[in-house]
Amino acid sequence: MNPETVADTVPGARRPHDGWVVAGLLAAATLACFALDDHVSLTSRAMVFMLAVVVAAYKLPWVASAACAVGSATLLNFFFIAPRFTLQVDSRENLVALFTMLTVALVISHLGTALRRETATARLNERRARELQQLAGELAAAARPEQVLVLARRFLGHSFPGPCSVALLGPDGQLAPPGQASGMDDGMRACIREAATLGPGTGRWPGLNAWYLPLRADTHIGGAACVQGVASSDHEGREHAQAICALLGQALWRLRLAADMHASEEQAHWHRTQNTFLAAISHDFRTPLAAIMGAASSLQTQRDKLSPAEQERLTASIANEAGHLSTLTENTLQLARLQNRGELHLDWQSMEELVGAVLARVRQRDAGRRIRSKVPSGLPLVKADPVLIAQALENLLDNALKYSTQGIELEVTLAGPRMEVAVHDRGPGIAAGAELAIFEPFRRGDQDATRGAGLGLAVCQAIARAHGGELTVRSREGGGSSFVLAIPVEADQPAAVAT
Ligand code: ADP
Repeated sequence: MNPETVADTVPGARRPHDGWVVAGLLAAATLACFALDDHVSLTSRAMVFMLAVVVAAYKLPWVASAACAVGSATLLNFFFIAPRFTLQVDSRENLVALFTMLTVALVISHLGTALRRETATARLNERRARELQQLAGELAAAARPEQVLVLARRFLGHSFPGPCSVALLGPDGQLAPPGQASGMDDGMRACIREAATLGPGTGRWPGLNAWYLPLRADTHIGGAACVQGVASSDHEGREHAQAICALLGQALWRLRLAADMHASEEQAHWHRTQNTFLAAISHDFRTPLAAIMGAASSLQTQRDKLSPAEQERLTASIANEAGHLSTLTENTLQLARLQNRGELHLDWQSMEELVGAVLARVRQRDAGRRIRSKVPSGLPLVKADPVLIAQALENLLDNALKYSTQGIELEVTLAGPRMEVAVHDRGPGIAAGAELAIFEPFRRGDQDATRGAGLGLAVCQAIARAHGGELTVRSREGGGSSFVLAIPVEADQPAAVAT
């Protein structure tokens, strides 16, 4: 795409070699007429000169083709109209013929020029329409204002021969980047203030040497453009620049709306999360708190009347409910943190050590010593937050202990680029169709008589995803389920392990 204007492509502007072309055409016509001197009439010779005029009108600018028309009439008169080799004309008939020929030649050259101008304008308009279409297509894919800026500079630069610059309005209402040439910022600011195109041919600020155009969509202005080296007569060029800027303005407006919508969605999501947590807290936290308060006040007020066994039962109930409350609080806070993109403390971790530490803790609650583990040695390290991974594994093991009465197996395997930690149990399994729903916060199985808030698996899933992994569940043959926590293993291991 080269910058092009109607003035470049239509007749009018004289080109250095046009004079030679006119001279050549006239010389060729004159020589042809001499060659045919004895064989054809004066009318035929006039036709030969007319042929030269038609060729000139078809090929040359207006000035050159008019010169060719005048030259043809002069040469015909000089060489071929009696008295020959003078500029005089002896008969009235010849004079009329000569003037008629001159007039026809001038009309032809005028018509030829007009035709070429229209053709050139049509071609230029077609090219500009294609450019606008291409710009609209590329703007549709732009996701950031910086991309719009790059497209604006590219398309304006391609469409206009003079220097172009574009600046967008930042959130502070200032132009960024500021224009380099002195006064350019002032022009851009003025066109933004007036929300109109300024410069030659616009009727506003005609003294400027460039067009200043707002990037505008309806009432929203996203920036401004400056196109230098323009002529006040180039209406089509100005309209094209305005069309480009309108497309840019609409794209900026679309991005602004999308950003606003994203921000409101984030806010709505945050409010939803808060509401969900408030609802959960009010429902799930109250029960254990009420139990603790009841047991504690009985112990406080009626300790003398209670048997040691009852006192023991109340104390155990307080410890049990407090433990439940602690897990609930931990899970709730973790989920809130992860859902609001809390920071992860990633570090190279040995899964063998992580699993060992978790098993040591969980086995204290596993009176039946049901958990077995299968962890191969020589596993690669994983980039993980040890506290979070431990919490996820503890939740999965606690669920297995809670929902099954038989043996539980924790197995670590390397599956391609992922490390999988699976917890297999022989519990009731997950109902068909509920395999995804159980990972949503506060979702519990329908048949659950066991105690819980439906948060454990949601936290595990959030932890897996925060690590770029996934938690899935599958049913086991022979009954029970396998929860598999998969997290990516990086190919670049730290030096100590790689050697
Ligand atoms: P909670 O256990 O507190 O209800 P979870 O998010 O840990 O919350 O689990 C959600 C639901 O998934 C549970 O209510 C239960 O129906 C089901 N579930 C979880 N783990 C198991 C398991 N190991 N076996 C069978 N069902 C399970």
